[in-house]
Amino acid sequence: MDIQSELKKMLFQLNLSHSSRNIELHLSAATQQNHSHAHFLMTLLEAEQQYRRERRIRERLRQSRLRIQKTIDSFDFSYPTRIDGQTIKTLFDLSFIREKNNVILLGPPGVGKTHIAIALCYQACLADFKCRFSTAMNLINELNASLSDNSFLSLMKRLSGFDLLIIDELGYLPVDKQGADLLFQIISNRDESGSVLVTTNRPFKEWGQVFNGDTTLAGALIDRLVHHGITIQIEGDSYRVRKS
Ligand code: ADP
Ligand code: MG
Repeated sequence: MDIQSELKKMLFQLNLSHSSRNIELHLSAATQQNHSHAHFLMTLLEAEQQYRRERRIRERLRQSRLRIQKTIDSFDFSYPTRIDGQTIKTLFDLSFIREKNNVILLGPPGVGKTHIAIALCYQACLADFKCRFSTAMNLINELNASLSDNSFLSLMKRLSGFDLLIIDELGYLPVDKQGADLLFQIISNRDESGSVLVTTNRPFKEWGQVFNGDTTLAGALIDRLVHHGITIQIEGDSYRVRKS
């Protein structure tokens, strides 16, 4: 075997697959441009590093289950009648995730809660945080399904492994007793182990109704979320209505 094929194989065995695939290109570029050995090696490894970074971010995005991408740049902060724009912009430095703090976005339908949640999730994935975006109902359904096939504990473990768990649209649909218990377990399990971001159209005082009249559980849940969390209230007309 010639030295190049040998090298290709070796790089592959060393898990440097991108370098293995592109070694010929790098070698001929180095020869043509008369690069030093150190320069050649640096270029090769930088390309490998870049490739891995991009692959990891694609994986983060896939794992987040985000189906659309939005950024905060396309958010018009002058549209809502009430919004703490500064606090929201500060969230995008993602220190709330590093500090394992929670975020609760409260407000009527159409004011951009999901938009902000998606943009934060996207930004966090780009920064290599493990995120999961889910509606409250999908999460509860997933938890219920895991009870039926005995995968509840492994699902719990997986969910607590996320740096950021986004629970969108809490309160649109009523949550039954079992759903409420499951949600409570997830949130208390994550307490101080990672961030939760909740969006809801219901003020805290109505959470008892959301949870099937269980005001005790609703109170405990709010307590968990708010203890290490920041609540941001948005008010205004629906952006959807304006657009149509
Ligand atoms: P909510 O989750 O509060 O019900 P959404 O985030 O789903 O509202 O917003 C509804 C639609 O309007 C989305 O397409 C969103 O991107 C857009 N939208 C809402 N508020 C704004 C805003 N202030 N600037 C730009 N787009 C907005
Ligand atoms: Mg929404």
